[in-house]
Amino acid sequence: MSVLSGIEPKQVFTFFEEICQIPHGSGNVDGISEYLLQFARKRHLFCIQDKLKNIIIIKEASAGYEGEEPYILQGHMDMVAVKEPDCDIDMVKEGLRLRTADGRIYAEGTSLGGDDGIGVAYCLALLDTQEIELPRLEVILTVDEETGMEGATGIDLSMLQGRRMINLDQEEEGIFITSCAGGARVDVVIPVEKAQSSIRTDDMQLMEIKVTGLLGGHSGMEINKGRGNANCLLGEVLRAVGEHMPLRLVNMQGGVADNAIAKESMAVLAMKAGEEKELEAIVKEQESSIRQSLQETDPGVKVVCRTVSGEKVFYTPESIRSALDCLGELPNGVIAMSKDVEGLVETSLNLGILALSDEGLRLQYAVRSSVDCEKEALCRQMTEIAQKAGAQISIRGRYPGWAYRKESPLRDKMVRIYENMYGRKPMLEAIHAGLECGILSGKIEGLDCVCIGPDLYDVHTTGEQMDIASVGRVWEYLLAVLTQ
Ligand SMILES: [Zn+2]
Repeated sequence: MSVLSGIEPKQVFTFFEEICQIPHGSGNVDGISEYLLQFARKRHLFCIQDKLKNIIIIKEASAGYEGEEPYILQGHMDMVAVKEPDCDIDMVKEGLRLRTADGRIYAEGTSLGGDDGIGVAYCLALLDTQEIELPRLEVILTVDEETGMEGATGIDLSMLQGRRMINLDQEEEGIFITSCAGGARVDVVIPVEKAQSSIRTDDMQLMEIKVTGLLGGHSGMEINKGRGNANCLLGEVLRAVGEHMPLRLVNMQGGVADNAIAKESMAVLAMKAGEEKELEAIVKEQESSIRQSLQETDPGVKVVCRTVSGEKVFYTPESIRSALDCLGELPNGVIAMSKDVEGLVETSLNLGILALSDEGLRLQYAVRSSVDCEKEALCRQMTEIAQKAGAQISIRGRYPGWAYRKESPLRDKMVRIYENMYGRKPMLEAIHAGLECGILSGKIEGLDCVCIGPDLYDVHTTGEQMDIASVGRVWEYLLAVLTQ
């Protein structure tokens, strides 16, 4: 039974509702991809479905629009599929239960997938229409954006003619995204040495030092908020300890993902009798200086130590000292702010994961920059520091940034039309995180791109909602941009 049938714009919500009936969580896109392929076939539109299940659909220009430059429209077909603990929907096999209330659409017990189902629905409504005359449309619908932009990374766009693209994956009406960061993953492994097993340890005990209580956050969007990184703070605490006593490090682990600011980190040291008191005093002193420096930005931070039990197998204090020195020399956090866009972080990095094992002290960083040569310069700087310490460094998963274009005819046109329609300028925003626009910009020489969308709330959660009136306004606006 249709829930959205009475709601305008009908042509958009009809397709949105159809999409919601097909399970399409990231990694489960075969069904939605097949639906899109059949949609194109039924309408005799040129369509490519690639190996990854990405879809490209092309609709030729209407009569009168043949001379007009084509538009590329883009969205992603996957959604973050999450549900309430008591919800009985099998999100791999079943559709969503759409509901409306107070001018908004939501899905009962689950995420809605307005991100980016509404972007896909706009594209389908434009491809479907016979009444509205349009320039040539080249529609790109990618898979698995939410899990790492695998679809955008793997897609071949060489057959496209368009050089201007409207991405429909933005969550706030009236805010246009015009730049995003590129990135890379940098792994550093600093060698460490096991201490001789002949050393007597029966009179030693183990003490754990833990950095905890931090806010953490997204390593792109929240890197400039002055929050503490537990991995870096733990490195500082241990270096301070090492000035007073040998660092017989048994273990050191922290963080959960390279793109999350580390919230917790721990180390275990083997102590000789009498050293514990001194350790506690140093840790207390370190805690108070860290608390002071983070009092405005991350006030919950704690550094605690306690006795623990376990095997007393440790690494040599000398090798640990030099590993920690290397960790301290490697940069972290904001490296540079943008000169073009006020308040935008241009280049940053985050030590997301730290892990000590026989292989060495492994450090995993997410590096980001909207300027690709700045990202490469930072990687070179890290390589020099790592190599000086005899560490291995590997740089992987590079993806290009989308630098703010000083000249953008598409952006100018979209701003002008927005102003004519609403009597005010849209906000132009640059973000310090990766978007598909960055990856696709790297594939189409000279791509002119703007990212827009209607108001969505609490995306990626079971509380996700979509504003009905906003969907309507963005539809009208999109039509104005495409036809003027
Ligand atoms: Zn999205």
